[in-house]
Amino acid sequence: MTVLPFEYAAPASAADAVALLRAEPDAARVIGGGTWVVGELHRGESQPTLVVDLRRAGLDAIEHDGDTVGVGAMCTYSALLDSGVVATHLPLLHLAAGGVTGGRQILNQGTLGGSVAAAHPHSDMPAVVTALGARAVIAGPGGERTVAITELFAGPSRTGLGPAEILVRLEVSSSRALGHGYYKLKHGGSSSPIATAAALVALDAAGTCSAVTLTLGGVAGTPLSIDLTGVLVGREPDEAALADAGRVAGQAVHAPFSDLLASGTYRAAVAPAVAVRALRMAVDHARRLAGHDSGRRS
Ligand SMILES: Cc1cc2nc3c(=O)[nH]c(=O)nc-3n(C[C@H](O)[C@H](O)[C@H](O)COP(=O)(O)OP(=O)(O)OC[C@H]3O[C@@H](n4cnc5c(N)ncnc54)[C@H](O)[C@@H]3O)c2cc1C
Repeated sequence: MTVLPFEYAAPASAADAVALLRAEPDAARVIGGGTWVVGELHRGESQPTLVVDLRRAGLDAIEHDGDTVGVGAMCTYSALLDSGVVATHLPLLHLAAGGVTGGRQILNQGTLGGSVAAAHPHSDMPAVVTALGARAVIAGPGGERTVAITELFAGPSRTGLGPAEILVRLEVSSSRALGHGYYKLKHGGSSSPIATAAALVALDAAGTCSAVTLTLGGVAGTPLSIDLTGVLVGREPDEAALADAGRVAGQAVHAPFSDLLASGTYRAAVAPAVAVRALRMAVDHARRLAGHDSGRRS
């Protein structure tokens, strides 16, 4: 495809970025870190007349206020990994960022906001921020609005962002008291994930599960949150309980996602095992947090 010339702008604020996008809503393209979109521009798959680069828009802060952490959309994976706030309060996000492939270039350039805004089913971050119950702060012509992350994901590689809107930051409640686990199934070390699972688990003093969150990625067009309340809550999360949870997770995959990496049938088939691995990690971590014996199996 032909690469056409375009104007380039690096606005100094989110409001300036929105003003530029508003002037050319159907012909402008936002760049975060560019790890995805620069390839599309280079190949001529995307032919904007204006490219709006967010690198100077001041969207790279990580702020901790009470129980809430605000993570700027332009935070790179390296910034997440280097942040003590993320390591302490959002260890699930920290763990998932540590598993991003592509080497230093992707860690230093790829952004959380870019991954979320791209909404690719095979990316790590959409399911992780869904499991964390994030809220997306969006800047647009009417000012800022905040939506639940589940409202942002509209389909495979589609979000509810308007043409003149940008993702500003994610707001996430601290999950430091919860056990966390993340597992992804891949063809090889550097390939994209086929199926992912992000889990958070709370245990009471007796070691009984008191809360659980599980979100699958890659198996459907958007992150798939599984209600495991009736399966795990009030029960010791032993191997039998985890197997039941895996079965329920598999049964929830009604419209599996297919692409060149893997068929929907394959994704649906592996979903239970991927779910169990993330849940097991989360349970083991929750036991360590509670001072119970780690690695207990029955
Ligand atoms: C070699 C390689 C390895 C990779 N490995 C992984 C991996 O292990 N896990 C993984 O999940 N992903 C991986 N990726 C995919 C991807 O590049 C990253 O997930 C990255 O985080 C995308 O962020 P970015 O800022 O570079 O996005 P960009 O390329 O800048 O943008 C992606 C899309 O989001 C839009 N956008 C960006 N920021 C905003 C914003 N703030 N508001 C509104 N729209 C916005 C852009 O217009 C574009 O449509 C890899 C990519 C490569 C090339």
